[in-house]
Amino acid sequence: MIRTGLAFLPLLYAVVLAGAVLLLWLAGEWRRSRLRRREWRAMGQCRLCAEWVRPAQGADLWRCPVCRALNDRAAPSDL
Ligand SMILES: [Zn+2]
Repeated sequence: MIRTGLAFLPLLYAVVLAGAVLLLWLAGEWRRSRLRRREWRAMGQCRLCAEWVRPAQGADLWRCPVCRALNDRAAPSDL
C-alpha cells in the first residue's frame, strides 16, 4: 500500500472528480455526435435549390418544401 499524508486526500479527491467529469463530458459528446450523424444520414438535399430536408421515413421520392421539386433518396454525392 502506498503511504500518503492527509494533505494528499483533497488533491486525490479533485483529480478523481475532474476525471469523472471529463469522462461524463466525453461520453455526452460521443453520444451527441452519434445522434448528429444519424440525423444527417436521414437528411436529403434538394437537387434544384440545395435545401436540406428531412424526407418522410421510407419514402423513395420526396418533394422539396422550398422549390417543390421532386427528389429521390440518392445522396447528392451519388450524382
Ligand atoms: Zn428545392
